[in-house]
Formats: sequence, C-alpha cells, structure tokens
Amino acid sequence: MKQFKRLPLEVNNQGWKVHKVGETYSLIFNPKRGRSKRLPLAVHQAAHAEILAKVLDGHAKQGSMKLWRSFKGLWYAMLSVSMEVPDTEPVSGWIGVDRGQNNIAVASLPSGQPKFFKAGIVGFIRKRYAKLRKELGEAKRTKTIKKIESRERRIVTHINHIISKELVQFAKHYGFGLCFENLSGIRQTSKQRKKTKSKADKNRDFWPFYQLEQFTLYKAIREGVPTRNRPAPYTSKSCCKCGVLGNRNHHRFVCVNPRCGAKYNADWGASQTIGKWDGFACSLELKDGVLVMSSPVLGNGVYDSPPNSVSEQFPALAGEL
Ligand SMILES: [Zn+2]
Repeated sequence: MKQFKRLPLEVNNQGWKVHKVGETYSLIFNPKRGRSKRLPLAVHQAAHAEILAKVLDGHAKQGSMKLWRSFKGLWYAMLSVSMEVPDTEPVSGWIGVDRGQNNIAVASLPSGQPKFFKAGIVGFIRKRYAKLRKELGEAKRTKTIKKIESRERRIVTHINHIISKELVQFAKHYGFGLCFENLSGIRQTSKQRKKTKSKADKNRDFWPFYQLEQFTLYKAIREGVPTRNRPAPYTSKSCCKCGVLGNRNHHRFVCVNPRCGAKYNADWGASQTIGKWDGFACSLELKDGVLVMSSPVLGNGVYDSPPNSVSEQFPALAGEL
C-alpha cells in the first residue's frame, strides 16, 4: 500500500495577518478562496509574544505560515518571520559549555567561575521513561510508548529552553561568547564503553544535548552573543591547567603530570578546556611528549609522525620516500 506523508497547509507571506485587540491575538487568512477568516490565537510561548509584537509594528518581516494539526487534534499556526539581529560584539573570552556525564551542562568563565546545570532531573526523567518504554515494549503497547515519548520530549524541551536562556544571559552579563564542544561525529571519534552506552542517562548521543545547543544558538543570535564550536575528542580527558591527558573518574579529574597534579571536578574542567583549548592540545610551554605518551589513557599511541631526520635535512626528498 502506498503511504502518503502528511504535509502542513502553507500560505505565503501575503496570505496571513496578525491582529491584536487588548491582549488577544487573532490570525486572519483565507481557508477558502475569497473568504477570509479571523481566528483567535493562543501564544504558545511567552517569548513568541515579543516576536508577534515586532510583526505588528513592522520590525519583523513576515514569511510564510503553516497550519498543522497535532495528533491530539490541536491546530497550530507556525509563522516564520525574519528580523534584524544585533551584530555580535567582539568578546574578550569564551565560556566553555560541557554537556552530559554528570551535569546536563556546565559553563565556566575563563577565570574559572562555574555555573552548573544539574542533570539530576533530566537523568531521572530519562531513566524513568526508558524503564517505562521497556515495560510497554514487552507488553507490545506501541501506542502508549509513542505517547510517553512525546511527553518525555516535552519535559526535556522545556528544561532546555530554560537552560539555554540562562546560558545566553550568563554570557551576555560577562561579555563573553559561548563555546560548545562539537558533538557531531562523536560516535565515530570516541570509543564509548558499551556499559556507558547502555545506561540511558549517560548516553552522549542523546538528542537533548543537540537540542540544547540549537536553542542556545538561536537565543544567542537574538542577543548578539557570539558562539563557536570546538572539536570534541579528549576535552574531558585532558587537564584544563596543563593540557596533558589525565585520569577521569566519574566526578573527579586527576592530572598525571607531576609538575601540575591538578585535581578538580571533571565536568568543570571539561568546560574550562572547551573554553580555552582547541580540542586536544598541549600548552606551548609544556610540550612534554614523553609524559603525554606515557599517559595510561593513551595506551601505546603516537599522535603525530615522529621527527624524521631525512625529511628534516632533505625536505625535497621526503615526498619521494
Ligand atoms: Zn595538569
């Protein structure tokens, strides 16, 4: 049997208008040719009222409008708008944001001052719903699974909205940019232990981390806060003070470099590394190759091709060898 995808009804930028009387918004459009209708509009999110106000006073240009009926039978009008955003100011530093592991997010200023967003509630939700899903799966109740999945999604989305808002305000307040760890492709680049992966609340591929970044990015654009991305591997394994790979054990990080020996909260350290370092890196004054290679985390790997006397003395020849 051929299946058809449900697509929302779409009208272009001239096909709809917003009206406001008192505190009530309404939407005018033509459901049938030549006959326009005015329908009351409930604002889904408090922040949307601000955007609607900009549409009304002409500060935002309206785009197309889509009508969508949810599975529950609620009708949604999705309005796309474009507007001017403030230019990003040059910043004096970056706030690193680490996601996952023990906290849903940890942000820290270049000076080290941290802001923790506890994963407790999100971890609890994930575990609880993973368990429920398993039980329902065994009972083959797929409809109910779908229902609780969308409930879980809504709760986590709400939490991400709050955290992303706070992150942007944190950065704006101190005049710094926000730097995220690039999680795309992390599945290929870092070896996740099977045990870690199977624990629902510890899985770093989990969509809330990606959603948190997306929410933060668009809120940052609106506020003129610059954002950037850094490669992910080893950020949580290298010492944020000296750059040498160390031992991470749940909440604690212990640096193996005898000249440093730093001990600190691992998530805080990762956020520091994300803010300061470009991925896996050694600080210039401490390019201690022996130490890095003897680190127990690395095993027996060499990260760069070792110096080769032939290529140094005869660079022209090196290509042929
Ligand atoms: Zn160190």
